Amino acid sequence: MTLNNEEKEIILNSIRDIPDFPKPGIIFKDITTLLSNPKALNTLMTHLENRYKDYNLDFIAGIDARGFIFGSILADRLGIGFVPVRKKGKLPYTTVAEKYSLEYGFDEVEIHIDAFASEGHDGKGAKVLLIDDLIATGGTAKAVASLIDKVGAICVEVCFIMELGFLKGREGIDAPVYSVLQID
Ligand code: AMP
Repeated sequence: MTLNNEEKEIILNSIRDIPDFPKPGIIFKDITTLLSNPKALNTLMTHLENRYKDYNLDFIAGIDARGFIFGSILADRLGIGFVPVRKKGKLPYTTVAEKYSLEYGFDEVEIHIDAFASEGHDGKGAKVLLIDDLIATGGTAKAVASLIDKVGAICVEVCFIMELGFLKGREGIDAPVYSVLQID
């Protein structure tokens, strides 16, 4: 299931580049302008719904914070549950955590220990699609994929709206990676 060029342009043109944010040299890909554009958001979400409707997924997991938005919409369209993966210290119940390195220092992501449990099922072997807005170095997604594994679920694919291909982030991720848009 691929997007045609016209659909790609609609989505790409709705994303705004902000130079030197949050620091000099970074071009920040601002998806707030995609979210506020109903045609672009609908084109994107319909594409993702078509791609994943036959994957037989049990859950969508979204990465704090922009992955929550796309992940929740997609989960509802597919009629399955949504699981938020959060930065450390935000989740109220028992969590499993994973540290990962940043350019300077560390960050940590957390998931509830029973995140993929459901009525009559302990969550082991649940089929999960992980989603975020953008992959740069891939460090965040790699840490989250390993959290999904730690709680006994299966990360069947990792999906991004944008991929900064030149950083080769996908090479560090064990699961299949799908990106809607390649950014050079
Ligand atoms: P990484 O772990 O290096 O793949 O970084 C991915 C995370 O940082 C994602 O949650 C992105 O939302 C965010 N991010 C990294 N680079 C950018 C960028 N140029 N524009 C927008 N978000 C970014």
